[in-house]
Amino acid sequence: MTAAPEQIDVLDEAREQVLERGVGLSEAQVLKVLELPDDRIPELLALAHEVRERWCGPEVEVEGIVSLKTGGCPEDCHFCSQSGQFPSPVRSAWLDVPGLVRAARQTRETGATEFCIVAAVRGPDKRLLSQVRDGIKAIREDGNDIQIACSLGMLTQEQVDELVAMGVHRYNHNLETARSHFPNVVTTHSWEERWDTLKMIRDAGMEVCCGGIIGMGESLAQRAEFAVQLAELEPDEVPLNFLIPNPGTPYENYPVVEGAEALRTVGAFRLALPRTILRFAGGRELTFGDLGAKQGMLGGINAIIVGNYLTNLGRPAQQDLEMLEELSMPIKALSQTL
Ligand code: SF4
Repeated sequence: MTAAPEQIDVLDEAREQVLERGVGLSEAQVLKVLELPDDRIPELLALAHEVRERWCGPEVEVEGIVSLKTGGCPEDCHFCSQSGQFPSPVRSAWLDVPGLVRAARQTRETGATEFCIVAAVRGPDKRLLSQVRDGIKAIREDGNDIQIACSLGMLTQEQVDELVAMGVHRYNHNLETARSHFPNVVTTHSWEERWDTLKMIRDAGMEVCCGGIIGMGESLAQRAEFAVQLAELEPDEVPLNFLIPNPGTPYENYPVVEGAEALRTVGAFRLALPRTILRFAGGRELTFGDLGAKQGMLGGINAIIVGNYLTNLGRPAQQDLEMLEELSMPIKALSQTL
């Protein structure tokens, strides 16, 4: 006799659907996972880890990130200390080409394979694009073979083509949150504008890196909505951030997502996105501490950023690399095909 649908346990369903067949959970299923009681978290994380090993393999991607242009952004993303619209302490600053080359070299020396050049802008202007072009050229002339990603805001088709011509292999542009919640977080541009940029990137053949931030006042249902909207995009990588309530931003008094809830979120996103690179991004020290970071790595995460995260100080690279060694997780090598 077949059990009534409400009697089927969501983790049993996930085992058959996600682990065996590689099909991500639906929105309703993700919500059920997000509502699991605390005592089922170890079971969830174990399954998420199995899914990650089965569909992505054991390797962990290590990435470095550098800010080419910091602060003074005209947009009003309420979580962001780089917005020029809030009185946060981040000052507007530019990094020069030699600084970029140094940062890329230091990143490569950690064993990282990805180097992401980030700018706090609505979208790039001519000056920014020529700085990126000069920077990439100088990094190559320095003999550095690291793969280069960019995160420069919303793009036009012409700019997408320029980045492809520069050899940028991956582009980061976050949807930040569920479509239904986005207007509460950003009013100066729309979720759809972000989506359009992501489509152009995908169509141009660049890898798509797209994630968001958990803990911005969204409901659990909206977290589930966000997970499946990301899955629909089929991103190569999803950076999962937990809100850092930065001083001066409208979210400065928001509570930090607590450990158990964060781990449930990591597990649920892995089950929604079985094949993607799921990256621990900003906020993990605050949310997890050291112990939780390890739990997350054993619960479906397979990429980390080493060093600083733009405006908030991350842990020293060595500490993360030691954690991977302790967990016997190999670091992904540079792709031979690029
Ligand atoms: S567009 Fe980016 S840099 Fe600008 S405020 Fe939003 S998140 Fe911050």
